[in-house]
Amino acid sequence: MEIKVNALVLKAVDYNENDKILTLLTAEYGKITAGIKGVKKPAAKLRFAAQPFCFAEYVLSEKSGKYTVINCSECESFFDLRTDICRFYAACAVIEAAAALTVEGEENADVFYGSVRALTKMCAGDDERAPLIEYLTFILGKSGYALSAGDCAVCGESLYAAEKMRFDMDTGTFTCFECGTGAGASRSTYHTLRKAEGKEYDEYFASADGEKRALRLIREYFSYKTENPLKSLSEYIRLI
Ligand SMILES: [Zn+2]
Repeated sequence: MEIKVNALVLKAVDYNENDKILTLLTAEYGKITAGIKGVKKPAAKLRFAAQPFCFAEYVLSEKSGKYTVINCSECESFFDLRTDICRFYAACAVIEAAAALTVEGEENADVFYGSVRALTKMCAGDDERAPLIEYLTFILGKSGYALSAGDCAVCGESLYAAEKMRFDMDTGTFTCFECGTGAGASRSTYHTLRKAEGKEYDEYFASADGEKRALRLIREYFSYKTENPLKSLSEYIRLI
């Protein structure tokens, strides 16, 4: 049987002398694993199809539950994500998070389109930080780990002008400093996350420093919820 899927390469692992095993995030069937033959040979026609971030239409043949790529036509290689080390690690964080939060064979079109959208923004723009924060909060929300920079989750007071506050890892919410028991969080983290969530925010605090702090908080929260340390995000934070 042959199927046609729109897919993004999340991972490519060497297999045999010239083959690879791909982890594909597809729009139609969620995450699937597929072998691709001969792609390590320099002249291989489908070499491009086994590169991380490749977004393409794949034709797969299925035999007793195993998929093999038999053809591929590229939509977008996201080549520019490989020309800058910061962008590269930000893009790696996108696909690593997508791989961690999806389950093999479970349809997840939102995560697929969200991932493609984030890589497109990072590739086209000169700033990868804001798209990365937006993407990570989006994908966490879609996976049942919503993170929300709203009013105090305990008393309901607005935290917009609060100088001190806390973030609760269990609920993914902020509280007044006096109300909660989570670790202290900064105003810049809070306002940067509000910006990513499309809420009203204070420009002064949603700064470059705020973006770095917000990414640190997201990394802690992500690994707390999923037990996945999101290594490429750590590498990205070190670089910025
Ligand atoms: Zn409160």
